[in-house]
Amino acid sequence: MSSTRSYAAQSATTPLAPWTIKRRSPKPHDVEIEILYCGVCHSDLHFARNDWGMTVYPLVPGHEIVGRVTAVGDHVKKFKVGEIAGIGCLVDSCRECDNCKEGLEQYCSEGAVFSYNGQERDGSGNTYGGYSKSILAHEDFVLHISDKLPLEAVAPLLCAGITTYSPLRHWKVGKGQKVGILGLGGLGHMGVKLAVAMGAEVTMLSHSASKAADAKRLGAHKFVLTTDEAQAKSVTNYFDFILDTVSAAHDYNFYLGMLTTNGTMVCVGVPPPAPPIAAFNLIFGRKSLAGSLIGGLPETMKDINEAYERMLKGDVRYRFVIDMATL
Ligand code: NAP
Ligand code: ZN
Ligand code: ZN
Repeated sequence: MSSTRSYAAQSATTPLAPWTIKRRSPKPHDVEIEILYCGVCHSDLHFARNDWGMTVYPLVPGHEIVGRVTAVGDHVKKFKVGEIAGIGCLVDSCRECDNCKEGLEQYCSEGAVFSYNGQERDGSGNTYGGYSKSILAHEDFVLHISDKLPLEAVAPLLCAGITTYSPLRHWKVGKGQKVGILGLGGLGHMGVKLAVAMGAEVTMLSHSASKAADAKRLGAHKFVLTTDEAQAKSVTNYFDFILDTVSAAHDYNFYLGMLTTNGTMVCVGVPPPAPPIAAFNLIFGRKSLAGSLIGGLPETMKDINEAYERMLKGDVRYRFVIDMATL
C-alpha cells in the first residue's frame, strides 16, 4: 500500500478538499502511473454533488488521466517505467462476456469497473480517480500515449473524446449527412471537431449566443441559438443525426422535432431529472432516440490516434485540465 495525495468530496455539499488515499501495491499485471494531468468532466461534478443518487463518499473524481509509468508488476509486458500512459473511465471488467470480447468493456455484462466510484472486482472496495498524484490499473486498461503529444490536450480525449467519437462512428456519421451537436462544452467541442473531420455538415446547437464564434473556429458550418425561436424553427425536420451532450435538464421533444425522417438523436449528456418523451415525437418520422456510454479500450486508442493526426493541434479550450504539479 502507498499513500497518495488527492482531492476528494466528502459529501454532496462540501467542496473538494485534500485527502490522502491508500493505493494498493502493483499486482503482477498492474501499471502504476504518476499523474501529470487530469481533465475535468461534468460527470465529475454530477458525482461530487450526487446528482444521480449513486455516489459513494469519499469521492475522488477524474477519468481523463495522463501520466508517467512509475512501476509495473512482474508480468506486465506492454509498458515500461518512464513511458507516458493514460487511463480513461474504465479500470477493469470481466474480459469474458460477449461485450468484453468485442472490445465493448463499458457494457460488460458483469458491470465494468469505473475509474472512480466503482467497486473493485476483488472486493477490496471503492475506486478512486485521477484527481490524485498516482493511480494504478491492470495493463489491459492502460493506454499507450506518445511522449511527443501535448499531454494536457490528450487527457480530454480519454472521456470527452471517446464518448463523442464512439457514437459518431457507430451511427456512421459522414459525408452527405446533416449533424447537430447539442451543447458546446467539453464533449460538444470534441463532437464538433470529430463530426467535421468525418465529413458531415455540422451545426452547433447551443443556448449560449456568446459561443457562436468559437463554434465556427472549431469547424462548425452553422450555429443555431436554440433559445431563438426563428433560428430553432429553421432546423425543423433537418438533421440526420443529433448528438446531445447537454448536462442540465432540457426538453428532448423539442430537439426530436429537429430530426428528419429516420433521423437519430443520441444522448450522451445525463441530466439528473429524466425528461418525459412523447411517443408521437418518435412515431411521426420513424425517429430513433438512443444512448451511448463512453467507448471500449480498442476504440479509445483509435480515438487518440485519429484525433491527434487529424485535428488536435494542442487545443484544450472547453476542457479544464488539472496540472497535478499543483496538488
Ligand atoms: P460541460 O462541459 O459542462 O458542457 C455541457 C453543455 O451543456 C454546456 O456547455 C452547455 O452548452 C449545455 N448546457 C448546460 N446547461 C444547459 C441548459 N440548462 N440548457 C441547455 N443546454 C445547457 O459538460 P461535459 O463535460 O461536456 O459533459 C456533458 C454531459 O455528458 C454531462 O451530463 C456528463 O455527465 C455527460 N457525460 C456522459 C458520458 C457518457 O458516457 N455518456 C461521458 C462523459 C460525460 P451550450 O452553452 O452550448 O448550450
Ligand atoms: Zn467523463
Ligand atoms: Zn465483461
